[in-house]
Amino acid sequence: MTQPTIRSVAVVGAGVIGRSWIRVFARAGCETRVYDPDREQLALALDWARESAEEDEALGFIGSGAAAAEGRVIRRCDTLNQALSGAGWVQESGPETLAVKQRIFAELDAAAGPDTILASSTSAHGMSRIADGLAGSHRCIVAHPVNPPHVIPVVEVLPGEGTDPAVLATTLAFLESVGQSPVQMNRYLPGFLLNRLQAALIREAVFLYGTGAASAEAIDIVVREGLGLRWALLGPFGTGHTNADGGAGEYYRRYGDSYRDLWADLASDPDLSDRVIDGIHAETEAMHGSDATAALCAWRDRMVRRIRALKDDDPLP
Ligand code: NAD
Repeated sequence: MTQPTIRSVAVVGAGVIGRSWIRVFARAGCETRVYDPDREQLALALDWARESAEEDEALGFIGSGAAAAEGRVIRRCDTLNQALSGAGWVQESGPETLAVKQRIFAELDAAAGPDTILASSTSAHGMSRIADGLAGSHRCIVAHPVNPPHVIPVVEVLPGEGTDPAVLATTLAFLESVGQSPVQMNRYLPGFLLNRLQAALIREAVFLYGTGAASAEAIDIVVREGLGLRWALLGPFGTGHTNADGGAGEYYRRYGDSYRDLWADLASDPDLSDRVIDGIHAETEAMHGSDATAALCAWRDRMVRRIRALKDDDPLP
């Protein structure tokens, strides 16, 4: 990993996402100031960050001594001002309500230094709405992670109407320098990129299951042993590029009519009634067990890291 391009950061809001951001920044060597108005939550997040780093070291995902090194750059802050003092980057990860985000951003804009970038983890709102009317709207930007960001690197970056292009460039470079994979979205749409793509696939999965076309297990197998294997390496367009000798252009020309016919046939509003949800739950429990969630999450996170390490060893040609 290169040196972080911003050396001191503040994590504001230390719930599920904030605590994982602590690991991202501390692992990269940033001085990481952590604030949450809920003292208990703050303590839990700091404990979690320490234990998670120790576990990663024990599993070999980070080097010997790296967990202690992370601990040395993490600072508990009991006030927002303390967290913002000297911070060049703020990662806001508070509650997902527009009015709350607007209030937090007004506080951040009033208290942070003039050159500090104010980034939000929001999954739902565009920065034009969050920073509407703020004097410092030019330094506000959405940096939406995937849970948990210390394991999954992609971060969707969306400037608001008032965001300075230089802030966008600095954001992309900074996130890259702390080991994330930032992607820029050019305009706000609900769900951004990842959740829209996910929702499109899940809509069809729910339709196929709900109409009895296939079992939940069959649908999961098609993704985990089929589509997902190639998509995890190349994405949908890159995969298309490998499915015709002439590349993506030939692929979409050759199969364009088939896709149009299928698009016309796909579900637009599948049944997501209790009957369907209960069925999905029962069949998923039959696959993975009723009390397997924590073990499954731990396995998922270990495997994601192993797959990422393989990709680093043999990168995209
Ligand atoms: P969470 O409820 O786990 O954590 C929110 C934290 O914000 C809590 O610890 C709470 O004490 C704190 N908080 C409350 N008021 C605050 C204030 N005024 N200032 C600062 N902190 C305050 O929620 P989460 O799941 O961590 O989500 C945080 C943000 O990240 C949301 O915007 C959410 O949409 C986004 N996000 C969540 C996920 C996910 O899968 N959980 C994924 C991507 C993005």
